[in-house]
Order: sequence, then structure tokens, then C-alpha cells
Amino acid sequence: MKTNEIILLSFHQISSFKFLISIFYIWNIFTLVQSSLPHVVKIGGLFENGDESVELAFRDAIEKINEEAILPNTRLEAVIEKLERCDSFQASKRVCSLLHDGVAAVFGPQSVETSAHVQSTCDALHVPHMEMRWDFKFDPPSNHSINLFPHPLALGNAFRDLIKLKNWKSFAILYEENEALVRMQEILKDPSLREKRIVVRQFPVGSGEYRTTFKELHKLAIKNIIVDVPQEHIYNVLKHAQQVDMLSDYHNYFFTSLDLHTVDLEEFQYVGANISGFSLVDLNSKDFGQILNKLQRDSNTRYNWNGGIVGDSFDSMVRLQYTIFSLNYANFFFVAPLCLQTYTYELKQTETALVYDAVRLFAQTLFEIEKNGATIHQNFQQDDVSCEKEKPWRFGSTISNYMRNVRNKIHDVIEVNGLTGPIKFDETGSRIDFKLLLLELTREGLKHFGDWTPGEKVTFMSNYTKAMTEIYRDTLKNKTLTVVTILGEPYCMEAEDDNRTGNDRFEGYCVDLIKEIAQILEFKYVIKVVEDGVYGKRNERGEWNGMIKELIEGKADIAVADLTITYEREAAVDFTMPFMSLGIGILYKRHKKDPPKLFSFMSPLAMDVWVYLITSFLGVTLFLFFVARFSPYEWVNPHPCVKEPHELKNNFSMKNTLWFTIGCLMQQGCDIMPRSLSTRVLAASWWFFILILVSSYTANLAAFLTVERMVNPIESAEDLSKQTKIPYGCLKSGSTEAFFRNSNFSTYARMWSFMESYRPSVFVESNKKGVDRVEKGDYAYLMESTSIEYIVERKCDLYQVGSLLDSKGYGIATPPDSQYRSIISDAILKLQEEGKLHMLKNRWWSGKGKCGGKKETQKVSGSASELGLANVGGVFVVLAAGSIIAIIICIGEFIWKMENIPRSEREHICIELLREIKYVICCYGNTRPIRKVSDMNPARHLIIQAGNGLPFLPMNSYQEMNNKNNYS
Ligand code: ASP
Repeated sequence: MKTNEIILLSFHQISSFKFLISIFYIWNIFTLVQSSLPHVVKIGGLFENGDESVELAFRDAIEKINEEAILPNTRLEAVIEKLERCDSFQASKRVCSLLHDGVAAVFGPQSVETSAHVQSTCDALHVPHMEMRWDFKFDPPSNHSINLFPHPLALGNAFRDLIKLKNWKSFAILYEENEALVRMQEILKDPSLREKRIVVRQFPVGSGEYRTTFKELHKLAIKNIIVDVPQEHIYNVLKHAQQVDMLSDYHNYFFTSLDLHTVDLEEFQYVGANISGFSLVDLNSKDFGQILNKLQRDSNTRYNWNGGIVGDSFDSMVRLQYTIFSLNYANFFFVAPLCLQTYTYELKQTETALVYDAVRLFAQTLFEIEKNGATIHQNFQQDDVSCEKEKPWRFGSTISNYMRNVRNKIHDVIEVNGLTGPIKFDETGSRIDFKLLLLELTREGLKHFGDWTPGEKVTFMSNYTKAMTEIYRDTLKNKTLTVVTILGEPYCMEAEDDNRTGNDRFEGYCVDLIKEIAQILEFKYVIKVVEDGVYGKRNERGEWNGMIKELIEGKADIAVADLTITYEREAAVDFTMPFMSLGIGILYKRHKKDPPKLFSFMSPLAMDVWVYLITSFLGVTLFLFFVARFSPYEWVNPHPCVKEPHELKNNFSMKNTLWFTIGCLMQQGCDIMPRSLSTRVLAASWWFFILILVSSYTANLAAFLTVERMVNPIESAEDLSKQTKIPYGCLKSGSTEAFFRNSNFSTYARMWSFMESYRPSVFVESNKKGVDRVEKGDYAYLMESTSIEYIVERKCDLYQVGSLLDSKGYGIATPPDSQYRSIISDAILKLQEEGKLHMLKNRWWSGKGKCGGKKETQKVSGSASELGLANVGGVFVVLAAGSIIAIIICIGEFIWKMENIPRSEREHICIELLREIKYVICCYGNTRPIRKVSDMNPARHLIIQAGNGLPFLPMNSYQEMNNKNNYS
């Protein structure tokens, strides 16, 4: 640490000093009559052995006040009494002696034991008592006591706010003196902090031995420590921590002493541990600079302070050195230095700064009183004040109230800016509106990174995050980190080449990833495989295994693997931002292709369609047969050359009709064709039916032949959970197991209870074993989608069933509260933005895959399904409609024929119709003789068709008609 010294030599040029004193007394006599304040105001100081620096600061402050002439007509005079440490009896006597001397205020002493007595005496006699020490009493101090040290509650709140902000997962409180627990009360009481793991230990009292406690913390893997020891022990505490390896990069220390900045921390600047603390004294403040400038100007000192120049650094040492006569402090300024002794004090020490401020506050108060009050002089007389008479000082309360800002409407609020910032009190005498500076040790020394104020709590400097990032990056540079990982494709695999050494022994996505990150952050690393071969699971006792354990125990600095970020793990270690997203999927084996079935040609149509088809075929045949027989136009002359045939023939015999319908069905056609409109309508309906059905059949058959027919026994996790035939499991001690174990969702909970109870165990030691088991068949493996993706690219008989069960990410894990988490996250973000993460994924996933097209087949499968009645029902309707139309036309044809025959030559049309139907139904053969009219009516030659009810026609008429209707 750079040391700049101010050397202030008092008692120089004694002769000129005596001359000044003479002038000073003459001036006193002159001004006494005019000033409302007495010419000399004595102020008492009670200091214990060992408090020399406080005493010196007190003297110095008075001297400066007098030199600055804050009270133009009044001079302050120090009356000092020395005490043995903690001697309360002596303290009572000395305070009485001071009061007897007529002091207007008593400053000190600093120890709890003595100050309590002094306080009660001052309170009884209404003499202001100025204190500059931490007081464990939470109650408001007595009416005449003013303590410049922050109230214990406010200080406790500051500690609590900072610890909450640090958000440590676990921490220890180490303390030396019992009263430290009072300071820690707010931390211990806070409900949000109570959830954390807090270890409280007291260092062995008075031994100066801190190592044992640190060793214990080492075993407990606690890395965050709040240390409450006096300023003079801080160095040793850090030294001992260093000796037991408790000052690594992952350790965080917070010192409750407000004097951390006065300790020489140079040795610990490079250890890596984060060391922080609060300071009440702001070395960089304007006031501090001004006061020091005055010291420089006004004193005969060697002043070499550069606090104002170095910005936010707290390295500058402000040391004031006095050479004094060690035996007679009371006559400090007046006695020739016969026995000289050198004392130094540091102005930046809280105690000394507070004494300075206390004297300044007192002087400022007197100035304000003088400004506002006219009758002070009378009241200021202290003749009667003494311990024996127990008569209070009349003016004491006025001073106390002024200082406490008790507004009695006659005076303004007194505001003094001192070395410890603005000095203000509330009505109870507790200091308000003070500011604590948050300091952190960096490679350049302690730096000011933020402030705590009672109102705003902790606020960081605007550049805090950036500055910290820079610091962490610097610390990480050229460091060698131990990277723990786990073997598993394609994240980290052992290289095939046995000659490789070091990190080159491994290859894979994670190996490349850490290489890229190390390049960005410029650190070195050594890859090691996790000892127990698992990712990390917490047991019932809260202990971790796997990579998580190695991080907690400090065996590794980071874990780079396919390590899933989970809530449970996040509570134990820190994760960077995710570098890959995934979810749990089901890996299962494809069903072997079904052996082709003998009657697979039937597959395109559903069985009921086949049945309907055959029924339709038979139905249409019969129907056509009858219609053809009924229709008169289907009866033709079998021998067209014979002009007068004896019989007529119908081509649609049963056999022919069958042949016709089947020929049409097979799309082969037939040599017999319908002649009448009715049979043609029916035939057209049948052709239409066949056209649609055959087309549909052909199309579906093509699909059936090209598509691999798959019958998947499971389609989703729901399917899995509902069956017990196919066992399913997951990786042991991983996040997938934890997912099912902790799930409240009924399907997953059911799956977990199945997995837990199934024998032999369905849990596997590694993903590889899980995949092997799936390959053997009859086992579904619950695996992370990224790994499934990789596997199905390479093992074409495996595939992912259904969709993902959840969504999460892989992250790089660091030990709890590690400084490096954020900078590694930044590096991952950079890689992501540059597209390198994507490139890496491509390199290790699809680069070496061999069954990319298989997935598509899987998708298409099942899309070819047999055609049911629902698909082709329409054509049956068309066929039925055609048939009905055919009947109607057929009857129409018959009636039309009848209408052409004179009524006298035929019977009633209905009788003829019934007769014809009877003839058709009786199936008398496909020829019918032509009967002469004489058979019926001998007078006329008529043609009669036996039994068909056709009218009797003369032969030539019939001939004529037959020729006309020759459709063929
Ligand atoms: N990646 C997982 C883990 O971090 C492993 C698994 O459970 O599948 O635990």
C-alpha cells in the first residue's frame, strides 16, 4: 500500500508561540464583555490507555477549530483525563474532576464499562456527553448523550441488506466478542435469510487462533463468511484463512468492522477471494479533502496525501504524526518536550474521524447558540456544577437539544459535514442520514463500489457490473480451471486415438464448447471425468453426488456436460445461462415390418365394403336379369334373316347377366350389351359404381404397398403409463429421475411408482446402457430429446415416441456463488450470437448421422388405411338410385308398348303388367315363342308372346315393331 504521510509537528518555535499566547490573552479581555459565549470554553476528554490516537485526534480537532475561528470570540480548550482501561471507578472520579474544572462537554471514554458511568453522571448534571463508539444498547441514549457512531439497529440493517443482496446460498458468521451477535441480530432474524444454511461460530476467545474455525468451515464447504473481529485482528484472520486454503476464488468475506480500509490488505489483493466491508469515512469526499487541505495549509506538516486524485481507491494513507511529551497530556501544548514520544494516528480510522466530527459538531452548535441566543453568557456559568452538589448545569440541555435538533422553533437544524459525512441526529440522539461506503478488495486495492443509506438501502455505482466483470475476467485470465464432465455421446467421448494426452483424450460437443469459452475468457483448463460417473442427485440427508458434489467440495471449478438446470441443483450450485434446450422424450424400438399377408390385396377396402361389393354385384346381376326380361325392347329376333321368327330371344339370360356384371367389374367389358333404356341406365349405374370403387381401390392399394405398415403399441407417455407390458425407465441419479420423482402430475406420478417398483430395475447407469436395452426390445427409455435426436440419427430402428414431456436446458455449473458464472454466461451468449453453438450442434449431431430419411417414413406410416363404407358409401347410393331409375324406365317402356296396341287387342294394362311380372319371375327361359292371334282370337293374326301379356298383333305389325326396336 502506498503510504502518504502528513507529519504535523507541534511545539515548534516555542518563542513565537509564547508571544501569540500573550496577544491571545489581551484579546480575550477585550472581547469578553461583548461575546455572549465565554472567552474560553473548556471541553473535557476522557481517554483510556491505548486510546492515544483518539486523544490526539481530539486535541488536533480542537486546535483546528480554534485556528479556523469557527467561534470567533471563543476559544476551545481541551481538558484531558487519562484512565485505566475498563476502570469504571476511576472513570466516575475523572468525570467529576472534569466537571469540577467547568467543562462544557465530556468526550469519551471509548469502552462500554467506563462510558456507562460517565454517561449517567453527565445525564444527572445535564452536561453534554459526546460518544464515538458502537453501543450495543438499542434504547435511545440518555437525554444528554450524543453518539456519533451509527445506531446498532441501523448498522445491523446495513449488514442485513447487503447480505440479502449478495444472495448467498449458505454462509457462516464468525465472531470474536460476544457483543458481535447483537450486530448480527438483524441478519439472524430476517425470515428470508433464515431459509439459508447459516453456520455461526465463535473464534476461540483471546487465543488469536483462527485456523481451527476455518478448517471446520472448509469441511462444511462454506464459502461465504461474515467476520466480526476488531480492526486490529482482520489481518491475522485473513492470514489464517489463507493458510488453510480458505481464500480461493470461490470465497467471499464480509467484514463488519468499519475500519477494513485501514488494514494493510496488499497481501490479499491477488488471492482471488472477494473481500468487502463498509466504511463510514469517505476518503474521497470533498469534505475529507478540504479538511486535509486545511491540515496541510495550516500546519507545519509534511503532507503527502493523494486521496482526492486516485478516484475511488481507498489505498491512500492519511497519517498524522505527533511528537508529544508522553507523561503530561493535560499540558500537551505548553510543556517543553523534555521527554518526547512519537504517536501517529490515522485520520481515516472511524474512531478518530468521529472524534474530529464530534468536536466540530460541538463547536458548530456553540456557534449556532451564539447566533440565536442573547443571554447565554449568564447561563453558561458553571460555578455550581459538581458531582457533590448534584446540581445540573442550566445551559447543558440547550446544547444537547441543539445538537439533537430538537426544534424548539428558535433554531435551525444544525448540519455539519464532517469526515464521516453529514452529521445529523434525530430527537433520540441517534445519528440519521449517514452513509456507509461499500468497499471491495481488487487487484488495485480497496475500491468504492456502492453505498448504503437508511432510505435507499444498498445502491451500486453505475459502472459496478461492468467493473466487476472486468475484475473477474482479469482474475480468470491465465488461471487453470478443473473442468469436470461425464462420458456420454456426443457430449464427451474418449478419443479413439490412444496416443492422445491431456485434454485431447476427449472429444465431443462439450469438449469443443469449453475450448471456445476458454479462448474467449483466456483461461486454461484440465478436463477430468466425474469420479462416481453420475450427474448429481441429492439424497435424503441433503448430500449431493456426481458432478454437483465435486463442485460443492471444490474438486472442480466448472462442470461442462449435458447437465440439466434444475431448481434443486440451482439451490446447491450456480448455473450459467443454458447453452442447449431440450425436454424428456421416449426412445423406443420400431416395430419390425409385418410380413406381407397372403390376402393383403384386400387391405385397401374394409371388410364390410367387400361384403357390400359382393352383395351389390349379385344384386345388380339379378336386377339386370329381371329388368332385361321385363323390358320389351330386350326381346329380339334371334335370327334377323328370318323375316317371320317363331320366337324372340332375350340376351340377358342368368349366365349372360352374370358374365356382363363381372366383366364390367373387372373392367374387361362384355360382348352382350343392353338395348333398352332401362337396362342401359342400370348398366351405366353399375359402371359408375365400378369406376369409383376400382379407382379408390387402386389408389389405396398403391399406398398400402409403398407404406410400411406400423402398428405402434405406444404413442405417448399417457399410453406408457396405462400399460404394464412394456417396462420403461430412465437414467439413475439424473434430472430425468428427479423429474418423475418430484412430479405431482398424475400420469408422471403413476409412471414413477411403476418404475420404482418394477423388477428387475428399469433404471440404467448410463444413456448407453439405456439405448442398448431399448435395442434389445420391449423396453422404453425416457431420455433427453437432444440425446434421442443423436441416437435416432445413428440407430435407425429406434425412434422417439410422441412429444416431449417437459422443456428445460443444459447449463454450465459453477460452485455456489462463484464469481465466474456471469462471465461464462456472457461467453455463452457470445457463442450463441455468433452461431457457434449451432455449428457445434450440427457438427456433433447430424454430421455423422446415417438414417436421416427414416424419420419421414415413420411420419408417413399409418396414413394409408383401408377404405371403409364411409369412404365409398356414395357409390352404393348411386348404384341403388340407378337401379330404381332403371325399374321406372322399364315399366315406362312396358306401358309405352301397351299404349301402342289397340285396346281391343289387349287386356287392361295392369293385368298385362302382372302377367308379364309373373312371366319374368318364373324365369321361363330366355326365348319365348310367338303366338298367333288365332290362338287367342281366331279371327285375326296376331302375335302373342306367351304369358307376357303383350297384346295380340298382326304378324306384320309385330315384324314392323321388332325392326324398329332393333337396338343392337
Ligand atoms: N442430463 C441429465 C442430468 O443432468 C441426465 C438425465 O437425467 O437424463 O441429470
